[in-house]
Amino acid sequence: MKGSFPTQAFKDIQTPFYYYDTALLQRTLDAIKEETDKNGNYHLHYAVKANANPKVLQLISRAGFGADCVSGGEISACLAAGFPADKIVYAGVGKSDWEIELGLKHGIAYFNVESLPELEVINELAARARTVARVSFRINPNVGAHTHAHITTGLSENKFGIAMEDMLTVIGRAQQMDHVDFVGLHFHIGSQITEMDDFKALCDRINELQEQLDEHRIEVKNINVGGGLGIDYRHPNEAPIPDFGAYFATYRHHLHLRPGQQLHFELGRAVVGQCGSLITRVLYVKPTAHKQFAIVDAGMTDLIRPALYQAYHRIENLSSDEAEETYDIVGPICESSDVFAKDYALNRCHRGDLIALRSAGAYGEIMASGYNCRALPKGYTTEDCD
Ligand SMILES: *Cc1c(COP(=O)(O)O)cnc(C)c1O
Repeated sequence: MKGSFPTQAFKDIQTPFYYYDTALLQRTLDAIKEETDKNGNYHLHYAVKANANPKVLQLISRAGFGADCVSGGEISACLAAGFPADKIVYAGVGKSDWEIELGLKHGIAYFNVESLPELEVINELAARARTVARVSFRINPNVGAHTHAHITTGLSENKFGIAMEDMLTVIGRAQQMDHVDFVGLHFHIGSQITEMDDFKALCDRINELQEQLDEHRIEVKNINVGGGLGIDYRHPNEAPIPDFGAYFATYRHHLHLRPGQQLHFELGRAVVGQCGSLITRVLYVKPTAHKQFAIVDAGMTDLIRPALYQAYHRIENLSSDEAEETYDIVGPICESSDVFAKDYALNRCHRGDLIALRSAGAYGEIMASGYNCRALPKGYTTEDCD
C-alpha cells in the first residue's frame, strides 16, 4: 500500500521538496485534543524543533496548542506563527543572554532551567529587566529509554538537566532569589519511544520525587513530562496517527498528580512526523556488478536521519507500478554515508520517477543543511498543490 499524493501537481515543483499532508496533520491534532480535552489539566506544548515550517506552525497554533522552544530563533518563529507568549516554554542547556532576554521581554510561560549557573544568570537578567522570570527545573531522572543511543536524554551521563540529588538545593536557591518564581519541574527522557513502560518508569520516578517534595512542603504547580512518543516509520499508511490514547493513559494511570497540579507535554515527532514526506526524483539508475543504485536528487543535506542515526524511512516510487527490484537508494552528496536505504525493494525505477521518503515530517526539513552549496529544500502543503 502506498500513500496518496497529488502527483500531478508535483510534476511542476522543483525536487527535492517536503510535502505536508495538512489533513493528516489536522487529524493528528484533533486526536491529541480529544485526549487533552478529556483532562482539563493536560496541556500540550508542541516541540518546535521537530519542524518549524511556518505553515505547519500556524496550523498547530490555530489548534490552540502551546510551544516548546529550544532557542531564541524558535521563540521568534512561534510568535510569528501566532503562538501566544504565555503558552511558550523554553528549554536548553546553553541559553545565551539575548535568548533569555527575548523570553523575558515577551513574558513566556516559563524557562526550563538546566543548571544552577543558568538560574543565577536568569535571576540577574530578570532583575535588570525589572521583571520576574518563571522557572521550572529540568531534572535528569536517570531513566533509560529503549531508543537509539543518540536520542536518549534522561540518563545521568547525558548533558541535560539537573541531577535529582540537587533538586532540593536548586529549588531552595530559587526561593531565595527575588527575580525568579519557581513554577514547576521538567523531564524529558528521549525520543522515538514506543514502549509505554519507558514513560511509566518516568512516572514512577516523578512520584518518588514528589514524595520528597511533600516532605519539604514544597508545592509544584506544573509537572512537565517532555515528549518522546515515537511513530511507526515502517507503516506510515496503516498507522498514520500514533496511539495517543495509550500514551496519555500511561500518565493518567501512573503519575500521581497533586490537587490542582497541571500536567504539561512536549510532543514533537508524534505531532508532525507522519504528515511529511520528502519528495525526490530519480536522476540515474546505475547498475554495477553487485547491485544497482537508484541515485536521487535528494541527499543527506535534505534528510539527514538515515546518515545520522541509521534511521529507516519507508520509500515509495510514486511513478511506477512495475515489478519490484532491489536498489540502494542514494543521494548526490560527496559522502559515503549519503545513503537512504540499502537493498530496498522499489517498483522498477526510471530516470525522472518521483520517489517519496515517508514519515519525514519530524527532524527532516528543519535539519537540512547547505553542504555542497545546495539550496535548502522548500516545504509545500496540500493547499499549495491544489
Ligand atoms: C526534543 C525535545 C522534545 C520533543 O521530543 P519528541 O521526541 O520530538 O517528542 C520535547 N522536550 C524537549 C526538552 C526536547 O528536547
